[in-house]
Amino acid sequence: MAPQIGAVVVDRTLPFVSLALLGYTWYVYVFRVCISAIYNELGKKAEAVVFIVIACIFWVFSLWSYAVVLATGPGTPEKNYPQPVQPPPLAEANANLPPPATSPPFAYSPEGFDMQTMHQVPVLSDPPTDPFVSVTQHDGRPRFCEHCQRIKPDRAHHCRECDSCTLKMDHHCPWVSGCVGHGNYKFFFLFVVYTSLYALWVFATTLPTVIDAVAKRGFDIDVQWIVTIVLAFLFGFLLFAFSCVHGYYILTNTTTIESISDRPYYLRVDFDRTGYSYQIVATDIGEKLWGLGYSANWRSVMGNSVAGWFFPIRNVLGNGFTYPFNSEVYDKTVRRARDQSRMSGMQQNDSTLPSMDSPPPKDTTPAPMSRRYSSETDSLV
Ligand SMILES: [Zn+2]
Ligand SMILES: [Zn+2]
Repeated sequence: MAPQIGAVVVDRTLPFVSLALLGYTWYVYVFRVCISAIYNELGKKAEAVVFIVIACIFWVFSLWSYAVVLATGPGTPEKNYPQPVQPPPLAEANANLPPPATSPPFAYSPEGFDMQTMHQVPVLSDPPTDPFVSVTQHDGRPRFCEHCQRIKPDRAHHCRECDSCTLKMDHHCPWVSGCVGHGNYKFFFLFVVYTSLYALWVFATTLPTVIDAVAKRGFDIDVQWIVTIVLAFLFGFLLFAFSCVHGYYILTNTTTIESISDRPYYLRVDFDRTGYSYQIVATDIGEKLWGLGYSANWRSVMGNSVAGWFFPIRNVLGNGFTYPFNSEVYDKTVRRARDQSRMSGMQQNDSTLPSMDSPPPKDTTPAPMSRRYSSETDSLV
């Protein structure tokens, strides 16, 4: 589906608006507030220099982050990992045949994951010690994008405006002319933070200066002071609130889409890699699947280098295709899957193949997770 023309125009226009606002406010602040009013008229030379230096630091970092986020995509499943273009067949297409082997290509197991680099590593044990867990559709098929004709890795979503899938999609942002996701989330966050600091600094230093100049010393009001104060106030507090929200998302390893989702995830637990030996477990709504603790969550987005946190340089961990699950969620999911497997008789133990001929088992345990079936085609689109 092609993006709407109006959305394309907005996407192409807002970056110029952002640059115009940054350029205009910088001109007014430096030349008309600091140099003309504070330095020349009020005679506070040192104060004016300090004000300009601090504002310029925030302003340069804001522009730098903005340039990087505009130049860096969030990452798409298509670009790096070509997928088969046909959707995987339905498991229940023919009840007389065994289910097709559709082992999810992107799945997490502690044994097959390097937490330092956040990349999958080969699993050497056969059968694997740790089952593989991935987000799938309610019937165990891999999540699939009908528009892109690609399998969607965990946390990837299709964006209508971009007309492509986005890895670990947070939201589509017309101010950066694209999606915010795995590959550019850090740059977006730094842009929001530095721009809010710049705007708040301009507001906090311009307002007292203007009051002093006009009320006490009888200066004529420069209307551009007022415009700049209003702009700095609006964008400063708005972006500060935005910074806090996204800082919280980074610390808790969630995204805007995940935080507002009102559906459960369907987790497929593969006991081996044959594609036949698996169970499906539904999570509670709102359960945080990928939380690793504040420190690990922060480093997974901002990088391992403390100095690198402040600069828009690329050091996000992982490739955006596979994310480690929270250990409690993983353990609980695997435990539940083994219980289901035992109860249903579909799998005598983890090394034998199940039969999908029999109906899904009745759940007898009032555990937080239970096997649920739904008419929806996807658990989280
Ligand atoms: Zn797509
Ligand atoms: Zn988008």
